[in-house]
This record gives sequence, C-alpha cells and structure tokens, in this order.
Amino acid sequence: MHFHIMTLFPEMVLAGLNTSIIGRAVKNGYIFLDAVNIRDYAGNKHGQVDDYPYGGGAGMVMQPGPVYRAYEHIKNQIDLRQQAEGVSEPKPVRVAYMTPQGRVFNQNMAKELALQEDLILLCGHYEGIDERVLDMIVTDHISVGDYVLTGGELPAMVVIDAVSRMVPGVLSNADSGEYETFHDNLLEYPQYTRPEEFMGKRVPEVLLSGHHKNIEAWRREQSLQRTRERRPDLLKIREERER
Ligand code: SAM
Repeated sequence: MHFHIMTLFPEMVLAGLNTSIIGRAVKNGYIFLDAVNIRDYAGNKHGQVDDYPYGGGAGMVMQPGPVYRAYEHIKNQIDLRQQAEGVSEPKPVRVAYMTPQGRVFNQNMAKELALQEDLILLCGHYEGIDERVLDMIVTDHISVGDYVLTGGELPAMVVIDAVSRMVPGVLSNADSGEYETFHDNLLEYPQYTRPEEFMGKRVPEVLLSGHHKNIEAWRREQSLQRTRERRPDLLKIREERER
C-alpha cells in the first residue's frame, strides 16, 4: 500500500513512521511512504503558502494553489506507476483531509482504508486550508478525536500506523492484528508475561494451567468484564447488532 502525505513538515512524519514495526514494513516493501512538502509548490520565491483569512479573524490560512499543485504532482506519480504496472482500470484515489471536523477515526475505518492501493493524507496547519481546494480534492474528512491539534501530521501518523497494521505482511503474526481490542466490539483481555510473580502479585493460575479451553473461557470473560467497565458503549453496539 502506498501512503502519500501532503504536509509542510515531511521530516516530522517520516521520522515518526520510519521506526519500529512500520519502519520494518517500509524496509520490507509492504508499505510505501511518500511525504510531499507543500511548500515546494508555493509558486513564489519566498516559499509562502499561507495568507490572512478573508473576512478577518485570527491566524493564517493555507492557500489553495500550493495544495492543489502538490496534489497534482502526487496524482501524476500514481498514474505513471499504475501505467507502468499495466493497471487497466485505475480506481479513484481517496484523499483524506485530517481535520477535527471529520468523522472520528476507528478500527473499522482503518480496515476499510487498508483495502486501498493508494491513500493521500492531507495535513493542515495554522487555521486550516482554503475551502475551495478541499472541495476540489478531498474525499474523506478524518478526525483523531474531539480536540484541536496544531497540525495534521500527528493525525496522519496515527491513521497510517493503524491502517498499516491491517495490511497483510506488516505484522509478523497474521492473527495479532485481527483478535485484539475492538475485534467484535470488545476490549482485549489482560496480558501477562514472565516472571510468574511480580512484587507479590501472581499471574492468574488459569494461564499457567495449559488448559486451552479454560484459558479461552477466562479470556472471554475478562474481555466482557473489561468492556462493561471501561467501554459500555461498545457493548451497546454489540447488543444492537444482535437484535
Ligand atoms: N481552525 C480549524 C477548526 O477550528 O476546525 C482548526 C485548525 S488546526 C489548529 C490545524 C490543522 O491541524 C487542521 O487543519 C488539521 O489538519 C489538524 N488537526 C487539528 N486537530 C485535529 C484533529 N482532532 N484530527 C485531525 N486533524 C486535526
């Protein structure tokens, strides 16, 4: 899967993602990261990409021209690659604008986006981006939660990390991405590792028993109990689905 990040701070996104599991997935060719600096498309020698908002008000707004030109560059690159790969019917490429005004990101959205061959993520800064270019290129508005950040780079990194985990080959154990928190609208059961006793607290005996059926039942119960206590809203979704 190819991620194309439109940003004013490409080094921030690449430094954050080229480490650990996602970094390994990039090295092994399961995912591709391409960070495009919107400032390279400023079209003026000062590299200016923002200006005062029409109608007044605080802060600066990112201008439509540089964003559109950066998008065109990415789109051309994708078209050329697809031609080289002999793709006969290219799918329209999704452009996700990171914005607190978007749909709040969740695991189902990560799974669905992981089906795309290419995904463009647009990161805003300052007061945001001129609405006209958003109308022209954006297909999805994604928020990482009901709070306002200074830029779209951290949200884009969150989305790329969660989506990448759903791309086959990225996680070494194929199962570990499927059966964890949010699978079936449940939180995962508690996990333990060595030592058997830590500061007087023992690992639950059932996990040491080697009795797989009992372990499975215990984990299921823990999962339900934890979800009931911490995320009753998820249980409600399960109940409604079963009705
Ligand atoms: N003035 C905008 C508003 O009130 O909706 C907020 C702009 S915010 C300071 C600057 C940029 O950060 C946004 O364009 C967006 O890309 C990003 N951003 C901030 N909070 C976000 C969130 N919760 N989820 C996704 N992106 C966010």
